Amino acid sequence: MNFDHSPIAKDLIARMQKFMQEEVLPAEATYYQQLKGGSDWAQWQQPAIMEELKAKAKAAGLWNLFLPEDGARLANVDYAPLAEITGRSMMSPEVFNCNAPDTGNMEVLVKYGSEEQKQRWLKPLMNGEIRSAFCMTEPDVASSDATNMQATAIVEGDEVVINGRKWWSSGIGHPNCKVLIFMGLSDATADKHRQHSMVLVPLDTPGVKIERMLPVFHTLDEPFGHGEVSFTNVRLPLSAIIGGDDGISGIGRGFEIAQGRLGPGRIHHCMRAIGAAEYALELMCQRSLSRVAFGKPLAKLGGNADIIANARMAIEQARLLTLKAAWMMDTVGVKGAMSEISQIKVIAPNIATQIIDAAMQMHGGAGLSDDFPLAALYAYARVLRLADGPDEVHRGLIAKIELKNQAARANAALATH
Ligand SMILES: Cc1cc2nc3c(=O)[nH]c(=O)nc-3n(C[C@H](O)[C@H](O)[C@H](O)COP(=O)(O)OP(=O)(O)OC[C@H]3O[C@@H](n4cnc5c(N)ncnc54)[C@H](O)[C@@H]3O)c2cc1C
Repeated sequence: MNFDHSPIAKDLIARMQKFMQEEVLPAEATYYQQLKGGSDWAQWQQPAIMEELKAKAKAAGLWNLFLPEDGARLANVDYAPLAEITGRSMMSPEVFNCNAPDTGNMEVLVKYGSEEQKQRWLKPLMNGEIRSAFCMTEPDVASSDATNMQATAIVEGDEVVINGRKWWSSGIGHPNCKVLIFMGLSDATADKHRQHSMVLVPLDTPGVKIERMLPVFHTLDEPFGHGEVSFTNVRLPLSAIIGGDDGISGIGRGFEIAQGRLGPGRIHHCMRAIGAAEYALELMCQRSLSRVAFGKPLAKLGGNADIIANARMAIEQARLLTLKAAWMMDTVGVKGAMSEISQIKVIAPNIATQIIDAAMQMHGGAGLSDDFPLAALYAYARVLRLADGPDEVHRGLIAKIELKNQAARANAALATH
């Protein structure tokens, strides 16, 4: 078995690491200084340094690397180590135009968008001129079941009319956010997986109102933010519906599009989570060697060597499974890789939270402060145990596929006797 990266991935890894070391990491402090925080999200600004970094990344060819089709045309397995590198810095995915939810939204438009939708929304998204949000989750229903969504997208004549309330709409507070992908119920009488539709909603459409920003672990995640949004009689032409050039044929394709959207996006998050875990282990080792208690470096005390060894083993296992899932997406497609995608979606955030937590502990009080990036990395990894589907839903899917495969094997064995 050859575990080596391809020549194209090796070249990009070297360039990306250099760019992160020379451009992104030194700019982090300036970025956070320039960021206008606070609770009034209407005042949030895009830090000027981010636009400078984006221009440099674009010029360096480190742009849209996540898109296998219209972007850099990298295979998922080649993109994996690049996303891992960006896991070290929470602001870095945007530098390379590889940040959620824009990545997933761009993929939706590449795969399902009409020519008009691509011109109007995909082009500026791919250029990094605008940002977007994805509005599926609702406060009033258990949204880990995508078929539960109650907000409506009803066709009336030559318009689609949207009503309802969404929350956890990530990125909606960004000053450059201009468009939302909204998932709504179009026909409650249709087959369970054909009831919903996806609609492109310009943020400034009358009837769209951001009610508030939801804090995550006590921070608002500016300048992206996670909004609660109300939609009241929002009227759009049928051409805003995703999934068919005539608009109307996209009706009922919402669930299908949601499933298609989340394969690569889930893997991107896992790769970044592994990068975050790797960074936490690096910091943990540095701290445990440089700090002395009871006459010995921390690394030599109690079970700390085991903690370090366990972290290394967990990262190696998770990275291999991520690469396997990415490779399967490239070779058999998202559908054939469903179990592996769900497996790594459970494993990567769980090992990352455990390792980052151990690194915080090894740092003592400092680990929980903002003097180290560990608290922010922890919040990112912990969120991933919920976002894009809670652990339990993924475990349910893995078990379902396993039981089906086992039953098929048992039946095949019976048939040969
Ligand atoms: C920071 C953050 C950003 C997010 N960004 C977005 C976004 O941009 N767009 C968007 O649409 N959504 C977003 N989400 C929402 C996220 O996808 C949902 O929170 C998630 O899908 C769970 O839905 P829910 O919150 O309604 O939980 P529920 O569906 O109410 O589930 C609650 C809990 O029930 C349990 N449970 C559910 N199903 C099962 C099962 N089958 N077996 C066993 N136990 C189960 C699990 O423990 C689960 O955590 C974001 C969430 C967070 C925290």
